[in-house]
Amino acid sequence: MSLLVVGSVAFDALESPYGKVDRTLGGAATYFAISASFFSPVNLVAIVGDDFTEKDERVLRGRGIDLEGLERAAGKTFFWAGRYSENLNERVTLATDLNVFAGFKPRLPEKYRSAKYVFLANIAPDLQRSVLHQVKGKPRLAALDTMNYWIERSNAELRETLRHVQVLIINDSETRQLSSEHNLLRAAKHIFRMGPSILVVKRGEHGAMMVDKHGVFSVPAFPLEEPHDPTGAGDSFAGGFMGYLAQAGRHEDAALRRAMVYGSVLGSFAVERFGLERLRTLKRPEINARARHFAKLTQFTL
Ligand code: AMP
Repeated sequence: MSLLVVGSVAFDALESPYGKVDRTLGGAATYFAISASFFSPVNLVAIVGDDFTEKDERVLRGRGIDLEGLERAAGKTFFWAGRYSENLNERVTLATDLNVFAGFKPRLPEKYRSAKYVFLANIAPDLQRSVLHQVKGKPRLAALDTMNYWIERSNAELRETLRHVQVLIINDSETRQLSSEHNLLRAAKHIFRMGPSILVVKRGEHGAMMVDKHGVFSVPAFPLEEPHDPTGAGDSFAGGFMGYLAQAGRHEDAALRRAMVYGSVLGSFAVERFGLERLRTLKRPEINARARHFAKLTQFTL
């Protein structure tokens, strides 16, 4: 079952205690699409500028991602710069230049409109909604990610978009900011009143937690001795999560739990190297092996 994603395709400048890159291919939709492509076909809706080269395109095409929905415009591609603290737990945004995204009006190619699985990756909430509206009928599962930038600047738009999705996948500080609740279970109740019925909270090195009508399910983050760059971990988590569900074609409790594990597996690979480096060499058997490792990691008897 193919999976539709809209979000940023970007050039990133990244700084962590492990190194620095001035310009590398990134963006929420890029990390998501590459991670999801290990599980299901992916259709990408985004915009890039004339600085986006053949070589950049090959990174996506090489993973079999459909680029008919990738618009090219005159101007610069979205640019984001961030710096991580010594322990990689905090990051400051140094620049967010929307560039060609500022005038973007997404138009779905005809063949994308029957999408059953939709992921609205991090981008302006009105663009997320416009993509969802172009999908014929109701998708089987629509999920959304966002960040403080949009919670602060486009709160009303975001709330309107949230009314139309079943799954919200965000990090813990964004969960608290969006709900004005510190406790994550209370925050979940608050968020369920906004529209979604499944909340997935990404908690960095503490793993991820899912809250829905069945209760709470948690997965740890895969223990790594030397993570290099957390950029894209959340989007890769979402790619593993949604990619697995699209592949499974269903989302009952057991499938959602497995999706949480595949999300955590993809997130863990993303942080091993800078930018997309590790995801670009990743192979499906490595994903399967790490998923089995996860089962061992969390197994116990009472
Ligand atoms: P994450 O580390 O999961 O938060 O994702 C980082 C990616 O999100 C980077 O590759 C950025 O290009 C992209 N990004 C950062 N800020 C924004 C924003 N305001 N809107 C859309 N994408 C963004």
